[in-house]
Order: sequence, then C-alpha cells, then structure tokens
Amino acid sequence: MTSPLNSGPEAHDLLLTGGTLLDPSQGIHDRRDVAFKDGVVSAVAERIDPASASSVVDVPGKLITPGLIDLHGHFYHGANGTAVHADEMCLSAGCTTGVDAGSAGFLNYPAMRDYVFPAHRTRLLSFLHIGAIGLAANRVLGGGLHDMRIIDVDQTADAIKQNPGFCYGVKVRMHINAVAAWNAHEAMRKAKDAAGQSGTRLMVHVSGTPIPLPDILEFMGPGDIVTHAFNGNPEGILDNQGKIRPQVKEAAERGVIMDVAHAGVHCDVDVVKSALGQEFFPDTISTDIHIAPPGRTVYLMNDLVSKFHAMGMSLSDAVAASTSKPASVLGMEDEIGSLAPGMSGDAAVYDLREGRFVWFDSAGHSVDGKLRLDTFMSVRAGAVAWREGQLMQMGNC
Ligand SMILES: [Zn+2]
Repeated sequence: MTSPLNSGPEAHDLLLTGGTLLDPSQGIHDRRDVAFKDGVVSAVAERIDPASASSVVDVPGKLITPGLIDLHGHFYHGANGTAVHADEMCLSAGCTTGVDAGSAGFLNYPAMRDYVFPAHRTRLLSFLHIGAIGLAANRVLGGGLHDMRIIDVDQTADAIKQNPGFCYGVKVRMHINAVAAWNAHEAMRKAKDAAGQSGTRLMVHVSGTPIPLPDILEFMGPGDIVTHAFNGNPEGILDNQGKIRPQVKEAAERGVIMDVAHAGVHCDVDVVKSALGQEFFPDTISTDIHIAPPGRTVYLMNDLVSKFHAMGMSLSDAVAASTSKPASVLGMEDEIGSLAPGMSGDAAVYDLREGRFVWFDSAGHSVDGKLRLDTFMSVRAGAVAWREGQLMQMGNC
C-alpha cells in the first residue's frame, strides 16, 4: 500500500512546481517543488507528481522562499493613526508574519488580540510597549513616556505572561520626542524589568536617542533587539571616523540582535554601506511599516531584501535575515522561517526582475541595483493568500 503522502490528488492541498527554492534554514538554493497539506509543508523534492495535489501552481523561473517575517511593523489598524492594514502590506510583499512593535501597551492590547489581528490572514504577533497605551497618542504627543506614571512594570509583565503566542516581548522607544533625557535610564530599567519578569526580550528603538547609545546598550543582553540599528542620527553605531563603535561590537558579540526597521528615516544608506564594509551585518531586516508622512520613503519586505542585496548582502543572507533569523529571535525556529517538511505552510514566490532599480532613504541617499524581488504569490498556512496583485479571500484559494 502506498503512503497517502505520495499518491493521489489528496496527498497535497497545494503544489508549487518548477521554481527555485532559496531556503537558508535548509541550505537549499536549487530547483525544488514544494507541497503543502493541512496548513504545513508536506514535501520538498526535485520533482513532486502534479497528480498528487488538488491544486497546482506552475512557477518556473520564479524564486520560492519561506514566507518572510517582518520583526518590526505597526499593525494595530484602526486603533493607531499610523498603523497599516497588515494583509495589504505584508502578503503583497511575500511576508506572512508581521510583528507589531509596541503599538499597544497593557491597557489597550485586548482589542488588538481579539478583533484586529484575527481579522487578518497574516500571522500577527506583538511586542507590548512599556507605556500603558502603546503608540496610541503618538500623533499628538510624539511618543508615550513623557509622564513616567504611564509605566507599570508588573501589569505589563503580567499581560505578556498571560498571552503566550501573542506577546513576545517589551518595546521601549529611546527617542528625544518620546522620553526626556532625565527619564531615559529609568525607562530602560523598567522595560528591562518587564522583559525579565515576563521571561521575554526587549526591543529598543535607538534612533534619535536622548542619551548616549552605549548607555542604552548596557541594559541589553543576548536576544534583546536593537531596532533602527542603522540609523543616520547622532549616537548611531558608527564613531566619528566611520568605524563601528566598540560598545556596539561588544553588544553584537554578546548576542544583542541588530535589526533594520527601515522606515525611511531610520536606515541610512551610508551607515549600512559602511557597516557592511566592516563585516557588520544586520541580524534581521524589517520594515517599521506605518502610514508615513509625505516625503518619507517606506519600503515593504520584498524591496528591503532587494535593497540590502543591492548594498552588498548576498541574496541568501538577505533572505536569511528575513526568514530563519527573525524566527529564531522569536524562538519560533521550529514553526516558521523555513520550508522544511512539517513547518508552517508559509511561503513567498517572487519574479526575479532584472534591470536598473534605485532605492532611497529619507536623507536623500540612493542605492542602485540590478535585481528586484517582485511578489508573485504569498502562501499562508498552506493556501494561496495573495496572488498577482490580489488578496485572496479566506477559504477561497
Ligand atoms: Zn516602529
């Protein structure tokens, strides 16, 4: 008797045939067919019989990757003035997991968990802000830590502990508009305490800081995340000679994660090029996607992978920084960020466009590249979720 996984149209729900798989978690960059069944990857092989799947999509010449993971975005759509609709901004870019970076705090997260996130097909996770209402008042206050009474360590830690699978850590914004210099150390201490009490990790915004960057890094240990690491503001990762500062190197060496969170204003092309030239690479590539004011250049994940490739990362490294690495930062390397059989059925399929492409930052620098990943399709939980410019209805793929 033949195994049901290997024969009959019921063996796989969906099969992608003829594409090139780039999956750094498995060390594969080669022609592979990929099949899905019951929401997970059911087979990866050089050839899988099309008759074994109830739905087949031919993708010759296209690149298949694990669904990308955006470690820093803003997805509390409808509750934050600058939060985006996750399915439109993630699935259209081959991104199947979005991590909300502190849009909510312990007072206002339940609606995000119960109403906003479940209305999306993208897998959505969160970091709770150390401020009780997250970024809800950002448009009028520019940040949330002007009055330190907004911080309650115990209630923040309890909210995170009570929501495993939804909350993955604590966000704190070290930005001059968000926290005064005389409160910044205390805010860092409290955020670190909340992360410690909840057994999770810190994510710290480090662009436009009110205190020196080394002071901030002192609070950060292995697995904590420096987000906007490559910003071009004062107190960045480079010294006056353009060298990586020793405290930054030490932080990276002890396992502090260097995350991009591009946002246009928080990722400077010259800083990235200088860092890459010194073999200092981002651990994770993320968007900081939000509704941007005019003049701010925000890119989605497919363009950021392309842009970092154009700036000098290998395509494989840029994809790893958008799949397997963020998965391990979240402690989810057994579930997402890989297309090994048994992993979640989240994948991206890209057309590899060749030509001359130009990407910008908000400082006016630009990067030229010859290759751009153009999203053809996103697969979420083993079903087509977005294809050729169209969001697919749930259950109708
Ligand atoms: Zn952000």
